[in-house]
Amino acid sequence: MSIIKVSDKGVFGEGEASFGGSYVPEHLQNALDQLADAFEKYKDDEDFNNELQYYLEKYVGRKSPLYFAERLTKEVGGAKIYLKREDLNHTGAHKINNTIGQVLLAKRMGAKRIIAETGAGQHGVATATVCALFGIPCTIYMGEVDTKRQALNVFRMEMLGAKVVAVDKGNRTLKEAVDEALVDYATNYEDTFYLLGSAVGPHPYPLMVRHFQSVIGREAREQILEQEGRLPDVVMACVGGGSNAIGLFYPFVDDQSVRMIGVEPAGKGLETGYHAAPLCAGKPEVIHGFKCHVIEDQDKCHSVSAGLDYPGVGPEHSYYKAIGRADYVAVTDEEALQAFLQLSKLEGIVPALESSHAVAYAMKLAPTMSDEQIIVVNLSGRGDKDVAQVYEMLNK
Ligand SMILES: *Cc1c(COP(=O)(O)O)cnc(C)c1O
Repeated sequence: MSIIKVSDKGVFGEGEASFGGSYVPEHLQNALDQLADAFEKYKDDEDFNNELQYYLEKYVGRKSPLYFAERLTKEVGGAKIYLKREDLNHTGAHKINNTIGQVLLAKRMGAKRIIAETGAGQHGVATATVCALFGIPCTIYMGEVDTKRQALNVFRMEMLGAKVVAVDKGNRTLKEAVDEALVDYATNYEDTFYLLGSAVGPHPYPLMVRHFQSVIGREAREQILEQEGRLPDVVMACVGGGSNAIGLFYPFVDDQSVRMIGVEPAGKGLETGYHAAPLCAGKPEVIHGFKCHVIEDQDKCHSVSAGLDYPGVGPEHSYYKAIGRADYVAVTDEEALQAFLQLSKLEGIVPALESSHAVAYAMKLAPTMSDEQIIVVNLSGRGDKDVAQVYEMLNK
């Protein structure tokens, strides 16, 4: 029996300390109920899982290796640091695990079009990719400000055949893009599938995204048992919406000896308010149709890594924090940048700025542990996309 208590409406925990659920208008609830039914039906379906397995292997390139970072370990001392190499997946990050899973579900549900929202463009690209793969028309909502900041990703999505809609309401960023995608979904759900990119949103998305991302933790658990003959002492991942972290954590959740640490972006410092660390410095609230920890001043939401720049967090993480199953810490933009540079030099692996947050905390924690101990860090993505930004930061 798992220690995790979640209701069939996607509510984690009980009473005051409960998170998730669904706080949406009735017409949207109808669409979500249909989605929840379809997910329940197919998640254990043999044909569905055979097809999923096929694409994970032949298209994404799974399994991803679990790599012992020997030079990094030597440099910082203490616990052995292993990297789960999600950066080696097709399209360069873990997001494709989820988009492949959801597109297969969309096909089963007879969807004629797929919509998604994107901030920096990474989820938009992962969605446009699987829509190209299956020849399904695709519309991506993106704040107008973001379309200007991420012009190359807009072009990439268009190259993949997607239509990108620039949303010119409000602050013209991710929040408005989500709102606009939800309006589209509520209107067109009979033939439209909303492909959500992280373990956030109303039920069933957090459970569905966890399901598709758990391949990370299942593989890592098997690989460390094979390579070291035992479970790790710590598993660690960066937390934006929390999908790569929950994907790594969940298969270890009932292994009480394994400590789970989520690393949030402290941005310019938690004390400045310019961060995106709701679990470290926020409080429970409803946002985008579900309950989770949310940062105090959403207008100050900031991280050096666009993929971590979200004011809320997956409800399952709020729950793990409430029951003490996982610890959440934060590292600053500057610390993440240093880890980005160190891992590149020491291992020849250029990590995504998002993933660099987890690497940075591993480098702090390892020296406090013995060299018999093991940390598994999820390297959620590769840093090619961040090279130009890092160049600018270093030359400023
Ligand atoms: C999107 C993204 C993240 C953050 O999303 P989560 O849902 O928290 O995993 C982290 N790393 C990379 C490389 C990303 O693209």
